[in-house]
This record gives sequence, C-alpha cells and structure tokens, in this order.
Amino acid sequence: MEDRPYKCPICHSGLKTEGGMKSHLSRQHEMPAALDALGKNYEAKYKSMLEENAVLKKQLEQIKGELVKTRTDLVQALDEGLKKYAEINRLNGEMQKMGLIIAFRDSFIKEKLGITMPLPS
Ligand SMILES: [Zn+2]
Repeated sequence: MEDRPYKCPICHSGLKTEGGMKSHLSRQHEMPAALDALGKNYEAKYKSMLEENAVLKKQLEQIKGELVKTRTDLVQALDEGLKKYAEINRLNGEMQKMGLIIAFRDSFIKEKLGITMPLPS
C-alpha cells in the first residue's frame, strides 16, 4: 500500500503530497480559492485575531472598571437618599410632636384662660 498521508477532508481520499491534495480539491471539489485564501492569510488572520482579542480584553477591563465605579456611585446615591429619607422622617416626627404640643397648649390656654388661639394658617 502506498503512503498517502494527506487525507481529503471532503471525500477522505488519500494523497501523497500537500500539493496533490490541493489539486485534488480544486479538480474534484472545485474549491481552490477558499483554501488558498485561508492558507495564505492564515497567519495574518491569526495575528489580527490575537490583536482583536487583546483589544476586546482591554475593553472588557474598562467596562468592568466602569461597572465597579457605577456600582460605587449607586451605593453612595442610595446612602445619601436613605439619609435624606431619614431626615425627612425625623422632621415629620418633629412636626407631629410640635403639632401635638401646640394643640395641647391651645387647649390648655382655652381651658384655663378662655382664650381660643387662632389656627395657624
Ligand atoms: Zn476529495
């Protein structure tokens, strides 16, 4: 049996040389252009893919950084919002207390002195 180490990827014929396989492919399967293009530009394509990968990785790192910063900003904004909310609650409570004190004072004045205090407008 002859040594035919080059196998056709399409019909699995064995061929002696790489050139033989190429011409087999072009004659039998009519696909020389695609293979030649791939063969000639393979290294350049591989290199440019590596470069693209590096660029994408960098972009990913940037996006990760932005995400962390945005998250920090959000936490800060939420914290400030909660503080403001707490302050509003506190002021509301104060207002209610003041209202009660005023109402109590007014009823005390009315009861003891017979004076009706005007309602605050
Ligand atoms: Zn074939």
